[in-house]
Amino acid sequence: MSDVSLDTLVSLCKQRGFVFPASEIYGGFGSTYDYGPLGVELKRNVKDLWWRSVVRERSDVVGLDSAIIQSPNVWEASGHVQNFHDPMVDCLECKGRFRADHLEGPTCPTCGVAGRFTEAREFNLMFRTQVGPVAEAGSEAYLRPETAQGIFINFDHVLTSTRRRLPFGIAQQGKSFRNEITLGNFIFRTREFEQMEMEFFCAPAESDEWYQRWIDLREQWYVDLGIDPDNLRRDVHPSEKLSHYSAGTTDLQYRYPWGWDELEGIANRTDFDLTQHAAASGKRLDYFDQEANEHFVPHVIEPAAGVDRIMLALLCDAYTVLQDEKGNDRTVLAFSPRVAPVTVAVLPISRKEPVAELSRKVWAGIRPHWATQYDDTQSIGRRYRRQDEIGTPLCVTVDFDSLEDQAVTIRDRDTQEQVRVPIANLEGALRDRLGF
Ligand SMILES: [Zn+2]
Repeated sequence: MSDVSLDTLVSLCKQRGFVFPASEIYGGFGSTYDYGPLGVELKRNVKDLWWRSVVRERSDVVGLDSAIIQSPNVWEASGHVQNFHDPMVDCLECKGRFRADHLEGPTCPTCGVAGRFTEAREFNLMFRTQVGPVAEAGSEAYLRPETAQGIFINFDHVLTSTRRRLPFGIAQQGKSFRNEITLGNFIFRTREFEQMEMEFFCAPAESDEWYQRWIDLREQWYVDLGIDPDNLRRDVHPSEKLSHYSAGTTDLQYRYPWGWDELEGIANRTDFDLTQHAAASGKRLDYFDQEANEHFVPHVIEPAAGVDRIMLALLCDAYTVLQDEKGNDRTVLAFSPRVAPVTVAVLPISRKEPVAELSRKVWAGIRPHWATQYDDTQSIGRRYRRQDEIGTPLCVTVDFDSLEDQAVTIRDRDTQEQVRVPIANLEGALRDRLGF
């Protein structure tokens, strides 16, 4: 654990182009963020690594990309219209608005005045919108508050079109929207966020086994991503705290700068969702077991992760302050190579020809294989420092000797070790060090 403060991370993210405050030229838009050139690469890597692990490398999971705006009937059947709300109170003194269940005692956290709260009112977290040109009865719809329901309503389509047998899963990534009352902790809790969810359908008798297996698999994925296992833990929800539909929920938590908090939840949702949608739609959403010659409603195990939370955990975990050869502090984002937004940087020692020409040639040779960056500004020391701070695992330096020996220097981010390799062997030498 780097014990980085959230403020330090927020400022590094803005300065280096990972995360910008949204609408900042208009004074900002509370708890909304835009991902910059490095943030978008980091995000893409997280999503690709998840897709690879959950879909492509498995034989029993397929993908889906369902619409954000669906029939309002979906959210009636899922229980979101009825049950998806938080108790909200207003402070009459300062007009601050809070979640009643987040308050500690009768004192307002903003103005410090006690006992001036309104009665708690239920506030639905779904964003409403109008579909069509006229605001009339029946035109109201919602932005999805989770991607999972898009999967349940397509269960029969996927089953029929792929001829799958149980057990199998359907995975989806995409934006979801919740009109949260209490936001904060940077990109941890925002109204617009990206989810990676997978619904794994299995026979009821096998559901507990699959539930345990998916907890193990998902935890290992974070370790493989390079997160320190000491900063990961499981939080098993006691049975009295479970949602009405759940037969078991385990959160994978990360040790963020403010303490342990959720990274991903794995839930045993039983047959709740399919049963609800079958009843509300009048369509059959079950499975025919040929061997047993019987129909039944599969049970569902759901690992549900938040992309933005994973990015924050990766940034916290990677943040390290090391010493350079002169004993000065050197800030390093020690991302694992597959996670790092820039994999290899090409740094020419001079902007002048013929070094520049050779450098561009070296860059063109590796650009198709990895996320690369070309940087010929400022001193070489400052450029190394900048690449360390954005987490680039390897730098390739082209110098005056390169013109003679047709070789370049590979510099390692973590050890600062430098090795000379022929340009002809550069791709293989980089691949050996990166592992991909
Ligand atoms: Zn107040």
